[in-house]
Amino acid sequence: MSADPPGRPTISNAHAQEADYVADILGATSDGLCSELAADRLRAFGPNRPRIVQKPSIVRRFLSHFNNILIYVLLVAAAITSVLGHLIDTIVILAVVIVNAVIGLAQEGRAEQAMTKIQQMLAPHAAVIRDGKRLDISSEELVLGDLVLLEAGDRVPADLRLVEAYGLQAQEAVLTGESLPVEKGPAPVAMDASLGDRSSLAFSGTLVTAGQGRGIVIATAEETEIGRISGMLADVRTLTTPLVEQMNGFARWLTLLILLIAATLLAFGYYVANLEFSEVFMAIVGLSVSAIPEGLPAVLTITLAIGVQAMARRNAIVRRLPAIETLGSVSIICTDKTGTLTRNEMMAASVALADQTFSIAGEGYGPEGEISNEHASDDPAYSEALSELALVAALCNDAELNETGGSWTVSGDPMEGALLALAIKAGGALEPLTREWFRSDAIPFDARYRFMATLQHKRNGPGLITTKGAPEQVLSMCLSQRSATGDAVELDRDYWRMRIDELSARGQRVLALATRVARPAEHKLPPAEFLGELVLLGLVGLIDPPRPSAVAAIAECRAAGIRVKMITGDHAGTAAAIGRQVGLEHPDFVLTGTDLDALTDHELAAAVLETDIFARTNPGHKLRLVEALQSRGLTIAMTGDGVNDAPALKRADAGIAMGRSGSEAAKEAADIVLADDDFASIAAAVREGRTVYDNIKKVISWTLPTNGGEALTIIITILLGLTLPITPIQILWINLVTATTLGIALAFEPTEEDTMLRPPRPRAEPILNGTLAWQIIFASLLISAGVFGVFAYAIEQQYELELARTLALNMLAIMEIFYLFYVRNIYGSSLTWTAVRGTKAVWLTVIAVFAAQLGITYAPPLQVVFATRPVPFADGVLLFAIGTVFFAALELEKRLRLNLRAMGQTAHRQEFGGSNTQ
Ligand code: ATP
Repeated sequence: MSADPPGRPTISNAHAQEADYVADILGATSDGLCSELAADRLRAFGPNRPRIVQKPSIVRRFLSHFNNILIYVLLVAAAITSVLGHLIDTIVILAVVIVNAVIGLAQEGRAEQAMTKIQQMLAPHAAVIRDGKRLDISSEELVLGDLVLLEAGDRVPADLRLVEAYGLQAQEAVLTGESLPVEKGPAPVAMDASLGDRSSLAFSGTLVTAGQGRGIVIATAEETEIGRISGMLADVRTLTTPLVEQMNGFARWLTLLILLIAATLLAFGYYVANLEFSEVFMAIVGLSVSAIPEGLPAVLTITLAIGVQAMARRNAIVRRLPAIETLGSVSIICTDKTGTLTRNEMMAASVALADQTFSIAGEGYGPEGEISNEHASDDPAYSEALSELALVAALCNDAELNETGGSWTVSGDPMEGALLALAIKAGGALEPLTREWFRSDAIPFDARYRFMATLQHKRNGPGLITTKGAPEQVLSMCLSQRSATGDAVELDRDYWRMRIDELSARGQRVLALATRVARPAEHKLPPAEFLGELVLLGLVGLIDPPRPSAVAAIAECRAAGIRVKMITGDHAGTAAAIGRQVGLEHPDFVLTGTDLDALTDHELAAAVLETDIFARTNPGHKLRLVEALQSRGLTIAMTGDGVNDAPALKRADAGIAMGRSGSEAAKEAADIVLADDDFASIAAAVREGRTVYDNIKKVISWTLPTNGGEALTIIITILLGLTLPITPIQILWINLVTATTLGIALAFEPTEEDTMLRPPRPRAEPILNGTLAWQIIFASLLISAGVFGVFAYAIEQQYELELARTLALNMLAIMEIFYLFYVRNIYGSSLTWTAVRGTKAVWLTVIAVFAAQLGITYAPPLQVVFATRPVPFADGVLLFAIGTVFFAALELEKRLRLNLRAMGQTAHRQEFGGSNTQ
């Protein structure tokens, strides 16, 4: 086909035109566009992408970091110090503010990068037919005339003129405000039909809630109806979570408190202690600057951004940021089986006919493999029966097999791909088998009724109904079965039940295939509930091996006090066999959807804890199960892939959708999307979630006590009318140096060793709990004791005041460094080689602080500005020795506290027994 640009093909009133006419104008055929024309159109008319939102300029973004009460206070302090003539103080305060804004800007860049990457990973895809082949392409590559396949759960990727639809329904609330799904079909509608009545069109951005269809792209990007209305503004998200919000609120509250204390102290110092105004004022400025955690919001955001990136690297894409925190406290993971615990790489391994069971050899989706059984592998009767089964398997199928370089892949549902491979093994090449049949109607697969059916026609002769689905379901639609001689004889339900149990006990997913000749007047299939009188052809057993990574991940979860439950649409036998293979705790006790229906909410809440496998469930059951588990006060992560899983995903504390096999609807409802569908990525995400939470805690644990120690030193000095052991400007300096280095290092902390050996964190546990409050007080006291102690020692040694202050200043810096090493390990000793070795970020910042302190202590220009003196070597060693004692005291306190807690936990377990998930 030749290329048509530059003239853009236009079509008006496509809803009122015949589908063929629209196809003609846009150059579309039943084989779709040819790829050259599609490429030309993409080049000429641009990608199918929402309009890019203009970002504010860098200057604006830089300035926005000054718009914060913490910074206002510092700016006012800078203004007053300059009026008082303390220019150097003004410069240092301004440096604090500017460095803070630069860090803020840099973290914003990093956060943005993380979010853009995530957005790219979540970019929607579309199934199209091009050159007669089914392809999965990025929705951005869609062009006018493309033939797009739609199925339940898809977000319609562009405006489409439907050419085919089976039970297709779309929810068009984004466009029309109507929340009930509307029926869609290819028949043209009146020219003046309103948007909501244009049933022959599927609109970009609307959601397919049921059925299947195909449509030709008639508008892309801003030309679509939604693009015209909203300009499809990409949503802008900020990197924050409730915890970080809470901490930012806390920082603002703390600022006000500090101002209040500062004002009181100012009044006290000036009126009661009769100090000189400028002197107390400067001390108060030093107090405010050191105590206000101005860097905290930026560092917390960096911690989150790093967490989001770490999760993305482990294939867990965070859509809603609060999930990062929730993941850390998850105590139950409810997971799908197919594709999450198993590989979703299916192969038909057995076929059961009316009196024989066959084994099927082969590998992957390749069409080579012998069909054998002990008795009758080459009996012509069987080969006829197998051919009929192959025909139904191939016709009742929407997948395609592709071969590249000798390896076979599926486009579409892997299970259907496996059936195609089986059809070739049993019936020969697909093309002659299917060529003469065309499909005139279909009942697409739906998890609610668990089967799929098609109505096929040949040019001459009667139509054929083909059906495949869950065996109980298909059996209930059959009256007869195909006998070895090819006749339809009475259905032997017991025989088939035995075969189903046999195959599923081997962990095989069992499908039943059935058929019937259509009646002359049957031009359409009846609704799903009325389809019947079928002839059962046989059963197919498909293997889908468990993922080795899932086995390890389930063990890891168990060690982390997280219980894993499998909720599957598959047969109870298959589910139990796979449950055993992957190492679930109680694989032998299975509750089915029917069992669940018979339980009251109260009974369910009791049963749900002890049961690890739920089989033959539908999406409604998932919702009930989440609610039952939540009623026990547990934090639940739940996976899902289908359109109907959305309510359960939303309801779960952390909804997790499958990135590869999941529908757009499930992904949009989820908090996290797994790029590789692998259960192991959930365990990895939990680990990262726990790490992020710990790191946020570490950042806070470092910031508050060090600020507290600095502030306490000044408060005590003023209250007791002593000489300041560290001058205000020196305090400003130390704050500038450490807050921008040491504080940030903690955001990069790796996962602690025992992170997945601890029970989940209780959901309601506040971050600023008693332990942290105690730690803040304890460390603040030790830090100010150290500073005062060293200062007193220096005065006693008759050192001049400047040298005494230089010693106190360096003591403060050294204690802050030691404190950093202490905070790095909340749950274990810091006296291990790994802990001491630290990370690159830690050592870089330590070196930076060390260099800065050497500079202020020994560089003559800085000595002039900050009134410091060189520290004698012996005193330097003394400072380190005191730092070591300080560290030892902290570690001793930690060890005592952890031992006490461990004893408490053991006593609790002895008293209450059982696992910590209950
Ligand atoms: P999980 O929930 O663990 O992913 P699942 O994929 O087996 O399990 P469903 O997709 O709800 O769950 O499928 C339920 C049953 O419906 C399957 O066991 C199978 O028997 C049948 N089935 C699944 N897909 C199809 C299909 N495309 N056509 C016909 N029947 C199907």
